[in-house]
Amino acid sequence: MSTKTLNYDTTNAKSLLREVSERSSQNLSACYQCRRCAAGCPVGEETGVTPDRLIRMVVLGDREEALNNLLVWQCVACYTCGTRCPNNIQTARITETLKQMSKEAHLDPLRPRVADFHSSFMAAAEHVGRFNEIEGMGLYEAKTAIKELKKGDLQAVIDEMMGQAKLGMKMMKKKRMHFKVDKVKNVAEVKALYRKAKQGKGA
Ligand code: SF4
Ligand code: SF4
Repeated sequence: MSTKTLNYDTTNAKSLLREVSERSSQNLSACYQCRRCAAGCPVGEETGVTPDRLIRMVVLGDREEALNNLLVWQCVACYTCGTRCPNNIQTARITETLKQMSKEAHLDPLRPRVADFHSSFMAAAEHVGRFNEIEGMGLYEAKTAIKELKKGDLQAVIDEMMGQAKLGMKMMKKKRMHFKVDKVKNVAEVKALYRKAKQGKGA
């Protein structure tokens, strides 16, 4: 578990707390550090950051730590922390907000593949209102391949393609691979939500 001392930024603490609270719709100020959430987080030990600690970073205004920690990239959005929290704080929404803020600040993601998957997921879901494997995974694989090719690592691209092909075959056998792109009934509503979220950035 991270024991790094957090910095209290007296100038910017309030604005960071306000931004994260508004964008995530979570009342971070209600956190009294009881750590009930920490006990149930499946990635807390691996990432070295538990939900209570993440909230502390934001409350203290330690922007650098809040935008650069592994929990932001490895939170699996299981919502265990939220179900345990006596104040109903859903840290999954906070990690999602911080992920977006980290991208907007053009910081190098601590988990580049997670960042690429996240971008691909968001783009595919905006298009038809829900995630579809063909578009989402296609975008993700293209991003990954371009990066590997830039490094001159053609073998990595081939290995990735072979791995994904094998996985795809397994999914097809179990009827978990969908080639049909199912749109939600009202894609315009989903697009409006995306627009609203984009307008709200930096609020
Ligand atoms: S359970 Fe809720 S109040 Fe307790 S530390 Fe976690 S987020 Fe804060
Ligand atoms: S939602 Fe994220 S932060 Fe909360 S318990 Fe699950 S993995 Fe941990």
